[in-house]
Amino acid sequence: MPVFPGDPPMSLSPMGELATEGYVSHLASLPVHSGTHVDAPAHVLEDGEALADLPLWRFAGPGVVLDVRVRTALAVTAADIEPHLVWLRAQEPAFVLLLTGDASRWGEAEYYTRGAHLTPEAALLLAGLGLSGVGLDAASADAFGLRWLPAHRALLGAGLIIVENLRDLERLPASGFEFLCLPVLGLDGSPVRAAAALPVGAP
Ligand SMILES: [Zn+2]
Repeated sequence: MPVFPGDPPMSLSPMGELATEGYVSHLASLPVHSGTHVDAPAHVLEDGEALADLPLWRFAGPGVVLDVRVRTALAVTAADIEPHLVWLRAQEPAFVLLLTGDASRWGEAEYYTRGAHLTPEAALLLAGLGLSGVGLDAASADAFGLRWLPAHRALLGAGLIIVENLRDLERLPASGFEFLCLPVLGLDGSPVRAAAALPVGAP
């Protein structure tokens, strides 16, 4: 699994042996911001909440997908979001999931270094919508190498969580589903198994 440039790689080592010891287990080592994962306010804020400080219901709720694959820049800007604000507010979502199209570039050399991200203004706009969180099918809410992560600060500073490295958002309807991203660790970030639950009978 690719990890953020400069991070140590994920490693797995087997423990136990079925034939001789009667069990199998593994030791897993990975940066907690690897793969599909959630960021807590503590990721960038001195006194920010860690994932363990947040109630579990914060990691589930009605989701909407905002398709921003057609846009003028690599960044998702406030101008890309503004035309959808009335619709967004009417949906009363807990999670806005940005379909940037970057998931199709997963594993490519520039997925991390030249990836879709949010401008600070776009992040501020989303931070003002009363959401539980923002997710995107890209490596980071901020441009690669940007100091102080202003989009992260705008979102996490407003009490939202961020879900990064999502995929398959194009398979979801624009609204009408429940989004889930339950963390397994209580730290500044944690891998999640992100999922969308659709009503029975939904296409
Ligand atoms: Zn992260």
